[in-house]
Amino acid sequence: MKIKAKLVLGIGLLFSMIALLTTMSSVYINKLSAETKNILVDNYNTIDYTRNMLVALNNGIAAQPQLEAFQENLKRQEGNISEVGEEELTQKLAQDFLQLKQKPMDSLLTKTVRTDISDIMLMNMQAIRRKSSLAEVTADKAIFWISLVGTVCFLIAFILLINLPGNIANPIKELSNSIKQIADQNYSQRVHFESHNEFGELATAFNTMAEKLEEYKASNLEKLMIEKKRIETLIDNMNDPVIGLDNLGLILFMNTTALNITGLKREDALGKLVQNIAVKNDLMRMLIQELFDSKEVASIPNTPIKIYADQKESYFQKEIIPINIVPTGEKAEKQIGNVILLQNITPYKELDFAKTNFIATVSHELKTPISSIKMSVQLLESKQIGTVNDEQKSLLDGIKDDANRLLKITGELLNMTQVESGSIQLKVIKADAEEILQYAIHANKQAAEQKQIKFHLDIANNLPLLMADSDKTAWVLTNLISNALRYSYEHSTVHLKIATVNDFMQFSVADGGQGIAPEYLDKIFDRYFRVPGSKKEGTGLGLSISKEFIEAQGGTLSVTSELGLGSTFTIQLPIHRMA
Ligand code: ADP
Repeated sequence: MKIKAKLVLGIGLLFSMIALLTTMSSVYINKLSAETKNILVDNYNTIDYTRNMLVALNNGIAAQPQLEAFQENLKRQEGNISEVGEEELTQKLAQDFLQLKQKPMDSLLTKTVRTDISDIMLMNMQAIRRKSSLAEVTADKAIFWISLVGTVCFLIAFILLINLPGNIANPIKELSNSIKQIADQNYSQRVHFESHNEFGELATAFNTMAEKLEEYKASNLEKLMIEKKRIETLIDNMNDPVIGLDNLGLILFMNTTALNITGLKREDALGKLVQNIAVKNDLMRMLIQELFDSKEVASIPNTPIKIYADQKESYFQKEIIPINIVPTGEKAEKQIGNVILLQNITPYKELDFAKTNFIATVSHELKTPISSIKMSVQLLESKQIGTVNDEQKSLLDGIKDDANRLLKITGELLNMTQVESGSIQLKVIKADAEEILQYAIHANKQAAEQKQIKFHLDIANNLPLLMADSDKTAWVLTNLISNALRYSYEHSTVHLKIATVNDFMQFSVADGGQGIAPEYLDKIFDRYFRVPGSKKEGTGLGLSISKEFIEAQGGTLSVTSELGLGSTFTIQLPIHRMA
């Protein structure tokens, strides 16, 4: 039976029983009161009148007041007939009284009248007794029925009290427990209500839902496992080493290549803290240092890592990718870990080496024939082997310029190969700053004269010695002055200055030429970079090699420039400390 029907039936029954009890009680009370009233009104009054008549008779009705009292009460009795036969008795009393009234002293008649009165009295007293026992029966009946209905009411209320709360609360309790289990992902949970009421329907719906969730979980899990396996296989088969870490540094996955290069065993790595492994493993330490040492991050340039594994040298470019997700129900992104990816760049590196070697060989091989061309030109110019006419001289000048340019280019290319192969040979010794500058000025003298550019020298007095490789520094200064001449206008001045700044010797080369736009200032030190639209011939190598040369000596090379106003290149090199 439905809960609603049960409630309506139970409470309805109780309600009707209470209504029945109330009606019944009021009916019986009314009946009892009517019966009592009958006794009081009809019989009790008659007894009162007859008693008054007896009193008047005893006092002697010869006296006028007694007579009147008798007559008065007789009259009232005649108007208060309630029992069967009472009227006849009252009429007989009235007739006998009339006779007694004629002969008030007649004792026989007095006796007859007294008998008549007591007959009426007796009749009413019997009636009172009869009615009283009738009322008693009614009262007993009322008590019986009221008790019966009351007991039924109590029983119904009691049954409802015992059953109803449990009937409603127990399934709700069971259901809420099961919902909690489902919330805890225990999808095998079911509820078992046997009733065919609303709770039964709820239980069926709940069980269906739990079954579907269980099915969904199982299918999802299976799908997830397949996907996980697929991704794991994919990562494992990658040629590039991949290491996955959680936020605390726990190793979640590491593919075979990563295990090979680190020399770790899978069981020794997975689920372990990478920080602990890094204590004993140098490569691991290098891979994770920027993850756990925030101060070092900025200072670590992302240079390729050289790793010796599988009996050969390999180069890897490291990339650390933070894994960010938006957790379910949240809006902000949260980092849950990192993936360390090492890209194997060995083939590119090998190609790069081949390119550097090739350039070095070609440059080196070109140097000798170019020098011999230069020497031949010089020989022709010196007129030792005959005179040349003006036209031939201008052709020779052209050949000389081209040979010089070729020599400069091959020199730059050779220097670049030195830088690239990391084999810059430095001879850092005590050196004189002014001497180095004079060498560079001398090397550029001809070019300056051609454009009628003057040098303005500002050299501080009593300059200390500096610690530098004179050749390399002179090469850099020559290059800077050469640029200053190339990129400034005819008849201008190039300012050359040497001063000491803190513990450094500072050379500056300032021109009033075309200047460099701010967006290119960072880039001019990159290899092969040339400011777009730069019409002057060049390789774009000079400044990058210069920077490498100066930094290799523990110095710095910087630039300030304003477009259209000129540029200033500044070299700082350490001063020689007197022992
Ligand atoms: P390049 O052989 O092209 O001169 P560099 O490395 O010496 O190569 O210079 C790179 C670029 O920087 C040049 O192409 C030029 O655009 C710019 N540059 C260098 N020096 C100056 C300067 N003094 N004034 C203006 N631009 C300059």
